[in-house]
Amino acid sequence: MMVDTAIAWFRRDLRVHDNEALVAAAEADRLLPVYCVDPRSRDTRPYGGSDSFRYPKTGGHRARFRRESLEALRGRLRESGSDLLIRFGRPEAVVPELAAAVGADAVTFHGMPAPEERAVDRATAAALRERGTEPRRFWGRTLHHPDDLPTPPTEIDDTYTRFRKAVEADSTIRATHPVPSLPPVPGTDDPTVEAATVRPGDLPSVEDLAATGDSLAAGADGASPDPDERAVHPFPGGEDAALDRISAYLWDGDHLREYRETRNGLLGANYSSKFSPWLNEGCLSPRRVHEEVTAYERERVENDSTYWLRFELRWRDFFQFQVLKHGAQFFAPGGLRRRDDVEWKWDADEFGRWAAGETGVPFVDANMRELNATGYLSNRGRQNVASFLANDLRIDWRRGAAYFETRLVDYDPASNYGNWAYVAGVGNDSRRRAFDVLAQARQYDPDAAYVTTWLPELDGLPADRAHAPWTLSTEKQADYGVELGVDYPRPMIDPESSGDDPV
Ligand SMILES: Cc1cc2nc3c(=O)[nH]c(=O)nc-3n(C[C@H](O)[C@H](O)[C@H](O)COP(=O)(O)OP(=O)(O)OC[C@H]3O[C@@H](n4cnc5c(N)ncnc54)[C@H](O)[C@@H]3O)c2cc1C
Repeated sequence: MMVDTAIAWFRRDLRVHDNEALVAAAEADRLLPVYCVDPRSRDTRPYGGSDSFRYPKTGGHRARFRRESLEALRGRLRESGSDLLIRFGRPEAVVPELAAAVGADAVTFHGMPAPEERAVDRATAAALRERGTEPRRFWGRTLHHPDDLPTPPTEIDDTYTRFRKAVEADSTIRATHPVPSLPPVPGTDDPTVEAATVRPGDLPSVEDLAATGDSLAAGADGASPDPDERAVHPFPGGEDAALDRISAYLWDGDHLREYRETRNGLLGANYSSKFSPWLNEGCLSPRRVHEEVTAYERERVENDSTYWLRFELRWRDFFQFQVLKHGAQFFAPGGLRRRDDVEWKWDADEFGRWAAGETGVPFVDANMRELNATGYLSNRGRQNVASFLANDLRIDWRRGAAYFETRLVDYDPASNYGNWAYVAGVGNDSRRRAFDVLAQARQYDPDAAYVTTWLPELDGLPADRAHAPWTLSTEKQADYGVELGVDYPRPMIDPESSGDDPV
């Protein structure tokens, strides 16, 4: 790209490694890296569509992670002699204005697949073109580049297995882009650019990034919640922290060799990779993970587990391309299967009990309390609480998904809504997805170590009772010091019926 001045507009791609948009912008003589704090990503917003409801977009956990990621990116860019400009406002207004002020010929950025994000892409690109600046869009979110898929993303199969087999057979994974050396920020050698235009600006605080009035947030005022010592990982934001996590999980801990066996775990840092927050905020490129796994296979071991990590990253790809294919339908009550035979109900009181972890079913409650306290939840936990809400309570799955959107430190529209729809039976794959949460609890938490970690009031109960405290007689409750309905709720449904899919 032969241009004098370029802007690299950062979004959920907060890294310098494998960043094609940054590489392209770094070919210019002057480069201005920019991040916009978009008010739409923090506010309480309507869900949209029929039966819309309001919910806070970003809670304290993700806001904290995003702030740290921005701080890390700014530090990294400054080390390279550049900077990260931070501006508050909508990108479609801020970026073209900045481009005009510094006389940028081009703005590079990464495209994103979900409808709201794509609308921002389009509006920003259109506003740039209007002012004579060239928008240059790249793709860096997935393991497989959309141009390398056997079919265009809009024609991919809606069944994961068929998609995976097709890409495994027919699609390569591109090499990561090297970290570019960065040209100076405009203004440093150009008196026509006013100093105020390129002043770096303050980093947003956690409060700037999180929704206000988020009463259910662990940090009820939307502020950064205090870290919980039971958290599986502190999840520090930023690219260095992401690369440290790769070192710790793959190289130092050597945990990848048994990932396939441990991935359904519930406690501790190493039953799974914990890469998701960094992947979703873009601090980590999936292609970088692939290259590390390839090196691990060469130097340590190649087995089912190393295969399985890529298998899961392809699930991630699948949902990214599915949302690209189905657009708004991906988020509709009947999902991409357009089911209109399910009556989703709305009951604020029942939903509130689910959200607060007070359903009286310990496995569900422990998971919801972990989510609220830390912003993270195991895949096994996510499946069970989602199934309980959608399949046992029959509450509109979108409410649960929106609740996750607020809380999760690793929220991604495609992965979150795709998985929720799948569990609720309206998404990809038509198999029954209703989980028997009691059977799941006994299988995956046989000694009840997980439920008693998050529900200390049940500590001291034998494992089978900790999963089913309603089976205790009044005398036994007194013996164990747990009074049902006082110390711990009575179950809100008959837990023995969980998983009986009524549809
Ligand atoms: C109801 C529900 C909601 C979910 N919401 C999200 C979300 O908002 N963001 C998110 O990243 N994941 C989501 N997942 C998928 C999965 O639970 C998390 O990716 C995983 O638990 C993250 O932990 P990890 O990085 O240790 O995963 P690992 O098991 O180590 O997997 C490695 C990576 O593969 C990807 N991956 C694994 N499983 C899935 C999956 N089922 N779908 C898509 N990608 C996957 C993730 O990027 C993950 O980081 C959701 C799952 C369910 C059932």
